[in-house]
Amino acid sequence: MSLLVVGSVAFDSVATPFGQVDEVLGGSGTYFSTSASFFTDVRLVAVVGEDFPPQHRSFLASRKIDLAGLQTAPGATFRWKGKYGFDLNEAQTLETHLNVFQTFKPELPEAYRESDFVFLANIDPELQLDVLKQVRRPQLVACDTMNYWIEGKRQALLKTLPYVDILIINEAETRQLAGEPNLLKAARAVLTMGPKTLIVKRGEYGVLLVSEHTIFAAPAFPLESVFDPTGAGDTFAGGFMGYLAATRNLSEASVRKATVFGSVMASFVVEDFSLERMRSLVYEEIAERYRKVKLLTEFAGLD
Ligand code: AMP
Repeated sequence: MSLLVVGSVAFDSVATPFGQVDEVLGGSGTYFSTSASFFTDVRLVAVVGEDFPPQHRSFLASRKIDLAGLQTAPGATFRWKGKYGFDLNEAQTLETHLNVFQTFKPELPEAYRESDFVFLANIDPELQLDVLKQVRRPQLVACDTMNYWIEGKRQALLKTLPYVDILIINEAETRQLAGEPNLLKAARAVLTMGPKTLIVKRGEYGVLLVSEHTIFAAPAFPLESVFDPTGAGDTFAGGFMGYLAATRNLSEASVRKATVFGSVMASFVVEDFSLERMRSLVYEEIAERYRKVKLLTEFAGLD
């Protein structure tokens, strides 16, 4: 089934305790679409500046990502600079330059308007809503956001959330959006804002899925070497939505499996800077880690 994403395509400069990189390929839309492309075809809606090099475009095109919705505008590509301390679960943003995103007015290609699955990756919530309104009858809408927008564009975000089925945000963002320190109470409060399901990303501790009648926890795949957590959240969302779009199955069991596929995808991207690990990744490695997570969490029926 067709999967559409709107999000950032960026140059990232990142420092972790293990090294640093400058102006490498990044962005929420980039990580999401690359991850989802292991499962299904993806349509990417975003804008880059004239400084975006052809090799980055070719990388995305080589991954089955449809770039008809990727505009090039006069000006500079979005740039983000961040750093991580030894606690790799929390990024510290040092600089955000929206550049060409500041004036971006997305016009979806006609074919994109029939997309069944839509992911509103981390970007200005006004832009998220603008894109969503152009899609005729989406079957499933999921959304991400971050502290930058929760603080800076709260009203616009609250206008977008009623159209969202699944909100995928991290633990600190859940507390910030709800204004409530207890995670479960905060999750319940977020569910009153529109989404029917909330997926809370908890870094190396995995994810918690909360809806009115269900709570499901999936662990992160335990890793000895986490190099750069940038993009883990978007890569999770790409695996999650990619699996659902590929299977066309929205049952409870399928959503749980999608959560584990999302975690598995995120476990690869953090092993190297930027999207380096995704370049060499093959589906058999994904399937292998999926089987390992299954064993990791098995306890009933072993006696
Ligand atoms: P995450 O999956 O949360 O680690 O997302 C990291 C990506 O989000 C980076 O590649 C950044 O380019 C991108 N990013 C950071 N800040 C923003 C923002 N305010 N709007 C859109 N994308 C952003």
